[in-house]
Parts: sequence; C-alpha cells; structure tokens
Amino acid sequence: MMYGGSPDPPLFILLLSHYYCAMSEKRSCPHASRCGGCDYINMRYSDELLEKFLTEEQFLSRFCTVSPILPSPSILDYRCKIQTVCGTENGKLVTGIYRRGSHKLIPIRSCPLEDGMAAPILSTIRTLANRFHIKAYDEDKGTGQLRHVLIRCSEYYDEVLVLLVASTYDLPSLSDLAAALHQKHPEVKSVSIIVNTERTSMVVPQGAKEKVIYGKGYIMDRLLGLDFRISALSFYQVNPRQAANLYTIAMNMADLREDDVVIDAYSGTGTIALIAAASGAGRVIGVEANEDAVRDAEENARINGISNARFVVADASRWLKDKAKEGMKASVLFLDPPRSGATEEFLAAAGRMDLERIIYVSCNPETLGRDLRYIYHFLPYRAVGIQPVDLFPASQHVETIVLLQRETL
Ligand code: SAH
Repeated sequence: MMYGGSPDPPLFILLLSHYYCAMSEKRSCPHASRCGGCDYINMRYSDELLEKFLTEEQFLSRFCTVSPILPSPSILDYRCKIQTVCGTENGKLVTGIYRRGSHKLIPIRSCPLEDGMAAPILSTIRTLANRFHIKAYDEDKGTGQLRHVLIRCSEYYDEVLVLLVASTYDLPSLSDLAAALHQKHPEVKSVSIIVNTERTSMVVPQGAKEKVIYGKGYIMDRLLGLDFRISALSFYQVNPRQAANLYTIAMNMADLREDDVVIDAYSGTGTIALIAAASGAGRVIGVEANEDAVRDAEENARINGISNARFVVADASRWLKDKAKEGMKASVLFLDPPRSGATEEFLAAAGRMDLERIIYVSCNPETLGRDLRYIYHFLPYRAVGIQPVDLFPASQHVETIVLLQRETL
C-alpha cells in the first residue's frame, strides 16, 4: 500500500496519468556521459524507479515494508534551482558545469532537468557580462571575477532570483547589469552578489555575506496554500510540486492534533513546521542552523498569519540535547537532515522527550538506514511506514519518509 492514502483523489489521479505518460517518455541529454548530474537520463523512467526502489530495499527493507516509490509529477524541467560555473572560451565568458570528477568546464546552454525560465536568463547574463567586460574567474591564475551564477525560479509565481558568486563585490557596471537583466526579463525580481575567493569546490563559502544589487533579496513561492519567501542562501526543495506531495504524506503520517507539541528539526525556510502549524498542531518549534533560513521561516509564519510556530537558530543536536536535559517534552518530531543524516547525540536526546511519533524525512537511504539501526538498538520506536518519493528524476538521489511509532509495552 502506498503510505498515507492521500494525496487527495484528484491529485492522485493526476499523478497516475503523469506516471503512465512519463514511463514511456524518451529522455536524453548530449552532455549526460560527461556531466554527472543525471545518471539515469538515458533510461526509461520505469527502469529508473525500479533502480531507486532496489536501493531503498537494500538499506531499509529490514526495518519495514518499503511502499512503492511515488513518481514525480514532472520528470523534466522540474529543477527550480540552477547552479552554473563560469569559464572562458574563445575570449568570451561561458557558463556550464564541471566534467564529472574534474575541474574542467563543459559549456552548457540548457539542461533538460532545469526550469525553462532559467536558460534565457542565463544567456542574457552571459551577453551582459561580455558587454560589460566582466571576466570569468580563473582559479589557477587568480584572474577575472565571475565564478558562478545561481538562479532560483518560483514554481507558483512568475519570479526569479539571481545570485552572482564572484571574486569581488566590485564587478564592472554591476548595477547596470542588474537593471538591464530586469528590463529584459521582468520576472527577475532580485539580483545579489556574494564573494568567494577560496580555493574550494563549494559554491558558497560558510559565512558568505550577500549584497543585494536589485530587488529584495528573495522570491516567493506557494506550496499547499501557504506562501514561502526564499532567499538565495536558504534551503528550499528543488522540485516544489513533488515537495508538496512529500509534505502531504509527512502530515498524513503525523496525524496532528490540537494538543500536539511538534519539533521540526533541520527546518530550513520553515516548510514542514508551518504546514504542520496550519494542519492542526498545537505548537511547533523549528530548529535550523542557517540564520537566513530562520529569518525566512519567521517571515513566512508572519506572511501566512501563523502564530503557533516559532523558530530558533541552533545546531539541531546541541539544541535537542539541551532541551532534553531541561526536561522538555514533545509529542511529534519531524527531522529532515542533510545527506549526512542525524547524529547519535540528536537521536539519544529525541529518545528522552516522550515523543509519540517520529517522522524522518531523508535524502540519503544509507544514512537513514544507519540512523534507524541506532534507533532500533537504543530507542523504543519502530518503523510502521516507509514511503520513498522521487524528488530528483534522472538523478540517483531519492527521498524517503519514515513513520516511527513508540512501541507500546
Ligand atoms: N525541512 C526543510 C529543510 C531540509 S534541508 C525543507 O523541507 O525545506 C536540511 C536543512 O538542515 C538545511 O536548511 C540546513 O541548513 C540545515 N542544517 C544542516 N546542518 C544542520 C545542523 N547541524 N543543525 C540544524 N540545521 C542544520
């Protein structure tokens, strides 16, 4: 059985029809073998889902039956976050990606997985950069300025955010570039810049300071009837239509009531916390390490008129450990950690809070399996539902939601 019974019937029928079309759809990309971003693009979608399901079973079936994977409503054009590297070809600035496992740039004009709004904007940025004599940064020679361009597209609203990553804030004619970009593409609502001079493959170094050149520094998106403000550096799921299904399933698993005290650990811009607060939970606390994301989450609570959710900037493990020590109790815990998973310290603290249910949202079945092993060994919670959700068609990654219930003695 697919966990949750929901999405609602109309949505479910829509998903099924997408599913059958998508199964037979031919996908391809000329850059696939060199890029590394889409390992499964040359496969039929049905085969891709089977591969992903087998991965899930490998790591998780020992804990509970794994439900069939929920296919993505769109298998192309779904990525709303686009990140490119800048380089030089024939004296001109080009954008693309590094060849798989190397530092060699492959110029790419468009990627079949990316939101169609991004490619024309990126093309205009290249033209304007060349016109204003902005050069691509060369890490070896230390010459040039522009390193990366990051583009975020709203799924619901006609809004796009552009973040330039450069070796200096003083790019030639920067405000002219931002104004010209907005004039040509009115959907570009925000242009900002951060500086990265480190020798690193990380696009945005820790603690980078963002300077807004045009607009407000964020765009809006809408999910499950709530508005979300998304800044350049905050985490937001790259496939929002499927993320809405993910959150719906997570809420069905949580089965929230008015007397529930809910913790949303690794809360990002507050998506899960705010949807939980709007779905009947009594009180919700979101914990997140990224200050920008917490600012977005607080603002998102305000925009949506939600008064039963608050957010703290903290390391999730340390915060949970401190609160458990103070004797804090809660009834439901959502956790949605990065690929590295949770820590033993986090899980041990969770075990001291009298939780009735834990909903673990994971983007890495391997670390999820490791954390479930710890839970089975040390805590009285058992998995009663495992629902994989395909958030990243054509890539190897797969998202999983696990519902853990407290064992009754
Ligand atoms: N639940 C959110 C975000 C999940 S992504 C959503 O659905 O959109 C994971 C988040 O964990 C990111 O926002 C990241 O900034 C945050 N994070 C990473 N390490 C952390 C830590 N040690 N403590 C708290 N948050 C952390």
